[in-house]
Amino acid sequence: MNQVSQRLIPFGESIFSTMSRLAVQHQAVNLSQGFPDFDGPDWLIEAAVKAIHNGPNQYAPSLGNPLLRQKLSEKMEREAGLKYEPDREITVVSGATEGIAAVLLGLLNPGDEVILFEPFYDSYPACVAMAGATARFLPLRLPDFSVDWEALEKLITPKTRALMINTPGNPHGKVFSGHELDLFRQLGERHPQLIFITDEVYEHIVFAPAVHVHLASLPGMRDKTMVISSFSKTLSMTGWKVGYVFAPPALTAAVRASHQFLTFCSVSPLQAALAEVMDRLPDYTTELQQEYLQRRDLWCNLLEEAKIPYNVPQGSYFVISDVRSLGHQDDVKFCHWITEKLGVAAIPASAFYHTPGAGRGLVRWAFCKSLDTLRQAGQRLLPLRHS
Ligand code: PMP
Ligand code: GLN
Repeated sequence: MNQVSQRLIPFGESIFSTMSRLAVQHQAVNLSQGFPDFDGPDWLIEAAVKAIHNGPNQYAPSLGNPLLRQKLSEKMEREAGLKYEPDREITVVSGATEGIAAVLLGLLNPGDEVILFEPFYDSYPACVAMAGATARFLPLRLPDFSVDWEALEKLITPKTRALMINTPGNPHGKVFSGHELDLFRQLGERHPQLIFITDEVYEHIVFAPAVHVHLASLPGMRDKTMVISSFSKTLSMTGWKVGYVFAPPALTAAVRASHQFLTFCSVSPLQAALAEVMDRLPDYTTELQQEYLQRRDLWCNLLEEAKIPYNVPQGSYFVISDVRSLGHQDDVKFCHWITEKLGVAAIPASAFYHTPGAGRGLVRWAFCKSLDTLRQAGQRLLPLRHS
């Protein structure tokens, strides 16, 4: 008998585990799961080593290291002009993954509905289900992943509690514009029960002319927005799992109610190390953007050389290709085939859709890799020119 909770059975194994395992098995260049093949800066590693040597190595306060919360407050004020009180409005969590779970488990009651855009980050529907709530899905329109605003409004019922927005977005690389964010604000005015949950883990990977705007910074939005982010992508340390949530006091109380029983606290010495280096972020993230711009442009050129169509992402470190024009109708089969036969692993993006048949033929490439790794993958994909 299957011992897995009925709520989780429909989600099966995460596509990231499946594809990374396949990549290892076939010694493929792994452009599937989104993690860099390089580590974050030396000064960060040195700060972590020092923190492990000198402590703290015991539990951090459940809310998070006080200095780190203070520095996060300064970061949000600098970047969005928003003041958040460290003690009542900022919580440090174990990566955005825990942030998403803590927000949804803390906020939702059974019977509540949450609107998710397709394609979604894979943990959203699973966490909505764990909370006993119901996800309602709205596909973003291809090819530019735009919102069907009429359809969105129609999805809202008296049971709708929240809307999740991922910008810059995984897997589509879309950065919601100021105009689109303002339409969300207007939607919130018409439906005052709505809480907006923004997943902003790629906040520092944005390509001009796109700019990342915090939805919470729009008039009236701060008090109904829960902002989730993490250091995983910003500092190229996805294994550190330190994330953070900004929310007004009543919503922060909901996050903390679940966070204390999920992990209680995130890793103490890493929090202390992050607090120590936070002042370096403005300079460091400027460099990060430059490096990712180079990687994005190289990867798009390599796709071009292999005659694989692609959408140029405005942010995040993913590129979406629709491989149907190459004669491959099924993204799952295509991704398995290129991993096994060509030695490059990618994610079949239909995994990020709930609606049956949606997303078929879409493939996600992660370009958070060294330029050499990308060149090697591009070389291996060249046989597709003849397909
Ligand atoms: N949200 C999105 C959109 C992601 O791509 C990821 C993966 N980094 C996460 C959340 C989880 O982030 P973390 O590594 O901080 O748990
Ligand atoms: N965020 C990463 C991605 O999108 C995966 C994280 C994970 O493996 N859960 O590829």
